[in-house]
Amino acid sequence: VRLTGIESPVPTGLFIGGQWRAASSGATFDVLDPADGSLLAQVADGTTDDVTAAVDAASAALPGFAATPPRQRSEMLRRAFQILTDRAEEFARLMSLENGKALPDAKAELTYAAEFFRWFAEEAVRIDGDYRVAPAGGTRTVVTHQPVGVCLLVTPWNFPAAMLTRKLGPAIAAGCTSVVKPAEDTPLTALLLAQVLAEAGVPDGVVNVVPTMDAEEVVATAMADPRLRKISFTGSTEVGKILLKQAADQVLVSSMELGGNAPFVVCDDADLDAAVDGAMLAKMRNGGEACTAANRFYVQAPVAEAFAGKLAERMAAMTSGRGTDEGVTLGPLVNEETVAKVDRIVTGTVDAGARVLTGGTRPQGPGFFYPPTVLVDVPEGAPALTEETFGPVAPITTFDTDEQALALANATPFGLVAYVYTGDLARGLRLAEALESGMVGLNRGVVSDPAAPFGGVKQSGLGREGGHEGIGEYLTTKYVSFPL
Ligand code: ADP
Repeated sequence: VRLTGIESPVPTGLFIGGQWRAASSGATFDVLDPADGSLLAQVADGTTDDVTAAVDAASAALPGFAATPPRQRSEMLRRAFQILTDRAEEFARLMSLENGKALPDAKAELTYAAEFFRWFAEEAVRIDGDYRVAPAGGTRTVVTHQPVGVCLLVTPWNFPAAMLTRKLGPAIAAGCTSVVKPAEDTPLTALLLAQVLAEAGVPDGVVNVVPTMDAEEVVATAMADPRLRKISFTGSTEVGKILLKQAADQVLVSSMELGGNAPFVVCDDADLDAAVDGAMLAKMRNGGEACTAANRFYVQAPVAEAFAGKLAERMAAMTSGRGTDEGVTLGPLVNEETVAKVDRIVTGTVDAGARVLTGGTRPQGPGFFYPPTVLVDVPEGAPALTEETFGPVAPITTFDTDEQALALANATPFGLVAYVYTGDLARGLRLAEALESGMVGLNRGVVSDPAAPFGGVKQSGLGREGGHEGIGEYLTTKYVSFPL
């Protein structure tokens, strides 16, 4: 399909075994522009037969790719990094068009996404091993790491490029082959990425992409295929649990990046302006549509009013509109369901007694817009504190002691990320150690970094993506024991 502002046509077929094809049923599904709900593109609607064909291709490509010299795999990723960087503008526009996000967010995502390819290009040649003398002598143990095999990568719509490169980077670096099932709202970015990887020299069948409207059946079919060895999923905890149950049947290696409910703690000794800057990032990056988004703010009582006032002022000053328009800093949410959920959470929280400092009402007119919203005096148990809002909503409550802040912050089944602002480093580290989360931003509003191990504890997930840990999710350990 030809899209405004994007030079080359964007593929809309299935990508299987290096070939672009229509769905076996001939069906397509609609991808909408969230700024006005209009039709953007029609994409092949993959079937269970199509996903099996993709597993065929990935399985056939596996032995050859697993045996490829690490340096070659590294160079494929490095070239892909370069192509993405060269075509950053085009990718950013595409993501803005299909996801709705403002261009500055889309550009930031593209940089982040490309960086996974560069990072894992560097990791591909550092897969290590070990040679050990047995304690009793007489035998030796040689430990080596091998690619896990055929992987199923299921990704969400909020970061259509980065959530995929974060999986494909290590998969390719490790020598695995993959079947990708992108989110139905944002399949175009995944398809363009597949084209880039082919251009970078990734062999046919190593990366296959099957968009579909029937995620449930198509994913279940791949999960039941005995040739599949691994699932890597980013999305809701609800769907993650379904996939973990399916994974149990085949004892699949499972990586799960699930929902979050990030607390943002501001202590009375924090630099308030820095805390507001951090809050803007943690809350408003990607329009609030991030699993790392600050979902609830706990501010120490003496500074709470000042913090809330400054945050409301900054949020109200954002420019809302079509993501690709000049000067826009907040695009629409991705779809009707998401905006309706945000609206329900805010209404429920206000009904529970919260006070609105800014925003709080869904605008009339086309598109899936919701205004930046700050809520104060939010009572414990209100939906804005207990549910993952995934939108531009900042509920603020207060605390008196650090113990109380920790108790409030940890009172959730989730544990992806937490943010802490304080002027006292030791206090910050004590809080960071006691917070039940896989990541902590200490005097920082963003933790995502390809060189660091991203992931959660509790019901936020299993495994880590990025860092030195990331490639390990795509490797198995084998040892050879022999007498000497
Ligand atoms: P979100 O709430 O962010 O949309 P989801 O967990 O619903 O997250 O979706 C993330 C990914 O999981 C998407 O690619 C979606 O198509 C897929 N998905 C949704 N439901 C299922 C299911 N029942 N089985 C397998 N995959 C699913």
